[in-house]
Amino acid sequence: MLAIGMLRGKAGVHTFELPKPEIKQPDEVLVRVKEAGVDGTDFNMVKHTLQDIAEGRNEIVMGHEMVGAVEAVGSEVKSVAPGDMVVFTVRRGCGICQPCLHNQSDMCMTGLYTERGIHKQDGFFTEFVLDQEQYVVKVPGDLANLAVFTEPLSIAEKGIEQIRVIQSRLPWACEHPDHTYASPDWGKCKTALVLGAGPLGILATALLRLAEVHTYVADIVPEDSHKVHLVKHMGADYIDARSKTPKEIVKFCCSAPANLDIVFEASGAAATAVELISYMSRSSIYVMTGIPREELVIQVDAAQLVRQIVRNNQVVVGSVNSNRSHFEMALKDIPAINSRFGGMLEEMITQRFKLKDYERIFAATDQKHIKTVIEV
Ligand SMILES: [Zn+2]
Ligand SMILES: [Zn+2]
Repeated sequence: MLAIGMLRGKAGVHTFELPKPEIKQPDEVLVRVKEAGVDGTDFNMVKHTLQDIAEGRNEIVMGHEMVGAVEAVGSEVKSVAPGDMVVFTVRRGCGICQPCLHNQSDMCMTGLYTERGIHKQDGFFTEFVLDQEQYVVKVPGDLANLAVFTEPLSIAEKGIEQIRVIQSRLPWACEHPDHTYASPDWGKCKTALVLGAGPLGILATALLRLAEVHTYVADIVPEDSHKVHLVKHMGADYIDARSKTPKEIVKFCCSAPANLDIVFEASGAAATAVELISYMSRSSIYVMTGIPREELVIQVDAAQLVRQIVRNNQVVVGSVNSNRSHFEMALKDIPAINSRFGGMLEEMITQRFKLKDYERIFAATDQKHIKTVIEV
C-alpha cells in the first residue's frame, strides 16, 4: 500500500510502499483510512527535517489526524465492528508511569511514550492502519464527514479543560454562582484572547464561543482573509496584530478594570507569547499550546515578570497532546460547533489533496490556507 512520510537521513517528504497490516492479536482493529488531516506539526517536520524514526526502521509514515472505516476486527474486539467509522488516538503510553497506566498518556511522566505519525510510530498518511481497540474511538455515523477534526479539536478540548480545572480555584470570578468554571455556564461573564487563527486557534475559539466566552482572536492576517471571516462568524472579535504590540493587544481586549480571564496561545510565536505574560490580568490563566521550533533569545525584565505572576496569582500552563476522553469530548462538540456556527468546520477545509499529491501538499503554504485534508 502507498504511504507518505520521511526517509532516514533524507530531507523532504517521500512516498514508499508498505505491506498492508494484518490482524494478529485478538484486540486489534484494522481500519481503511478515508481522510487524514495535515497540520503545523507535519509541515514543521518536513520544513525542519524533524525525523523521529524507530530504531531498525528507515522510514516513518507521517500523519496523526484521521478518520476511517473499520475493515476487520480481532476476536475479542467489542466496541467497534466492520463498517463502523472510527478515529485513532495519537499517543501510545510508556507503560511505566501512573498517568500512562491510567489512560492519561498525554500527561506521561517518563517521556518514553511514542506517537503515531510523529514520534517513532507510523502515522495515518496511508491506506490501512492497525491498532489495539483501546486506541480506537467510534464515530457516530452522521459525523463521518467532519470527524477528521476530532484530533485537532481534542487538543483544544484539553486546553480548555486545563483552564476549567485550574480556575476552579476561583469560584467567584464573577458575581453569578452559576458561572463557576465547573458549571455548564462557565463561559458567561468571561473574556478570552486567542493568539493565532490557525486550525487550533479557530477550534479553541469555537469551544470558547460555544461556552459564550467573549473572545478576541489575534493574528497577522488582513481583515478580509478567510480566517478572519470564520473568527467573526463565531461572534469573536479579530485583532490585527501586525500593527499592535502585545501591550496594545491586551489593551484592545480589556479596558481597565475589566479582566482578561483567559489567554489561549496557539501561534507558536514565542516572543509575543512570552511578552504577553507581562500583561495578564489578576488571577487569570494563560494556556500555551503552540510549539516554537527556532531558537529565539529575547530580553525580559525577569524581576517584573516574577513579581507580577506572584502578586496577581497568575497561572501559565502548558498543554500538549490529548487522551481518549478529549477525543470523546470532541466528537460531542463537533455537531454542536457545526450547527451553531453554520457549517464552519467544512469551511475550514481550504485544500483537499490525494495521497499521490504529496509533494504539492508540503510545498510552501501561504497564510490563506487553514486546514489541508488528504482524501485517501
Ligand atoms: Zn508514561
Ligand atoms: Zn457571571
